[in-house]
Amino acid sequence: MKKRRNIAAGNWKMNLTYKEGRLLARKIVDGTGRSDVTVILGVPAIHLKAMESILGGVSNFKTAAQNCHHEEKGAYTGELSAAQLKSVGTDCVILGHSERREYFNEDAELLAKKVDIVLKHGMEPIFCCGEKLDIREKGTHVELVSKQVKDALFHLTDEQFRKVVIAYEPVWAIGTGKTASPAQAQDMHKAIRDLIREKYGEETANLTSILYGGSVKPANAEEIFSQPDVDGGLVGGASLKAGDFTKIIKAF
Ligand code: PEP
Repeated sequence: MKKRRNIAAGNWKMNLTYKEGRLLARKIVDGTGRSDVTVILGVPAIHLKAMESILGGVSNFKTAAQNCHHEEKGAYTGELSAAQLKSVGTDCVILGHSERREYFNEDAELLAKKVDIVLKHGMEPIFCCGEKLDIREKGTHVELVSKQVKDALFHLTDEQFRKVVIAYEPVWAIGTGKTASPAQAQDMHKAIRDLIREKYGEETANLTSILYGGSVKPANAEEIFSQPDVDGGLVGGASLKAGDFTKIIKAF
């Protein structure tokens, strides 16, 4: 029997004012209520504190920051530390999103440090990986994604690794309207789970939630989420519309 969590995670990216964000979160909570699905809202940092009270009463809801600095504290103007995020009740931190890799040059070495500090402060990393279109066309996508996972995560102990959620997001499917086919998603998710099994064993592999991200919407969520190794989604665009996101949450 599947022991791992089903997760619907939203990534609001750099969207929504303070007022708009509170309104959207309330609508999502009201439209969903308590359920077996873990719902994670990946919000801009200005919203995190308010989310604590909006989501606080509903135990299946969690908050995620979209990034965090890799050092404890200090002279890093404009950055936020793991301790600061934790201090406003943040549960998870999205790390290694393809936009951060692309525009902020985040590499495996840096991401490994970010993973460490997020875990140290008692939050769950949602670690993103995924190939660009040229790699998919060359057929080396499994190799590349395996390397991304190994290089940033495989220094963790088994206990630490069990706190990590993985999000496979083919870059060619993010924000493009193109979705990986359910079979393409399943193949990669299985490859990632096999890799985890090789390193950490059967139990950890079975406990690790692996999410798919890339143009998930109400029309395709059910088919993607029904794949045996797909445990939910990391959703960008469709997470900004309460109606669409609640339909996605109900697609399991
Ligand atoms: C994302 O930003 O992680 C994402 C998957 O975006 P979208 O759903 O818009 O493709």
